[in-house]
Amino acid sequence: MNDRYSRQILFDPIGEGGQELLANKHVLIIGAGALGTGNAEVLARAGVGKITIVDRDYVEWSNLQRQQLFSEEDAKYRMPKAVAARERLEQLNSDIQVEGLVMDAGAEELRELTEFVHLIIDATDNFDTRLLINDISQETKIPWIYGACVGSYGLCYTIIPGETPCLSCLLEKVPMGGATCDTAGIIAPAVQTVVAHQTAEALKLLTENKEALRNKLVSFDLWNNYYMAMDVRKLKKQDCPSCGNHPTNPFLNPENQTKTAVLCGRDTVQIRPSEHGERDLEELSGVLARLGGRIEQNPYLLSYRADEQHRLVFFKDGRVLIHGTKDIAEAKNLYYSLIG
Ligand SMILES: [Zn+2]
Repeated sequence: MNDRYSRQILFDPIGEGGQELLANKHVLIIGAGALGTGNAEVLARAGVGKITIVDRDYVEWSNLQRQQLFSEEDAKYRMPKAVAARERLEQLNSDIQVEGLVMDAGAEELRELTEFVHLIIDATDNFDTRLLINDISQETKIPWIYGACVGSYGLCYTIIPGETPCLSCLLEKVPMGGATCDTAGIIAPAVQTVVAHQTAEALKLLTENKEALRNKLVSFDLWNNYYMAMDVRKLKKQDCPSCGNHPTNPFLNPENQTKTAVLCGRDTVQIRPSEHGERDLEELSGVLARLGGRIEQNPYLLSYRADEQHRLVFFKDGRVLIHGTKDIAEAKNLYYSLIG
């Protein structure tokens, strides 16, 4: 054994015992954007035994300013974020197991993914997925760590099922930030500060130092020099639909899951097919070639420029991203006119 983890082991609350615990833990990270890549890098370097990172998108040039696992090559070849992240994490630590999944995590998928997982890290950019994670966490009793940032502002909160209030309990009472979905911009230090809070909490949970957990909702604004830790323990609701006395886990209901969504802060609509199954990109390439328009492909996705304004990106899992519109009807029309 080399001394890769020696400084972390010297840190008393972790020690040899904590390091061994880390090696036997499995963390699920939902999202491989700014928060996801930051969390994944810290936890991979720390020696967490298995990391699964899930993302539905691919790398673009506008990501490189803050999404720390990605390179110019990844943007050039439109690598799926989950694949590019996995490759980089494997370079950083070959002792651990890394899984990168190119997919949209719905209720059904999350149920499968959380089997044998010890902790879920929220690195999403939308409340639909967060509320889904919140319900899954209550159902499986797996803790999760909420994180969000926009501009120079950020938030972090750790949710332990059966102990702390859940995300639903807090939503009406606390301004949770990140709820708006516009292009407000973001600076990397805001991301890094949320990542620092999330990964510190993760290390405490994974090394079974629960008494060190923060138990407060942290929010800060690095540009306006403000930092606050709010005690939210009293906000747990007895009648909460997710963690109350008679939970209904509303967000796990298939009827509450959208098949079509406008992506956060982007001029993009995602269509998710109702039936699951792989899309044959070669066959699709043949069909689209006959229609004209520019096709670019890598092993994971196919990009098709339909006209000046619209570009469609087809993934193997059946999803398609339609860039150039926020209008769901327009996106659907275009999609069905091409694919039939
Ligand atoms: Zn609740």
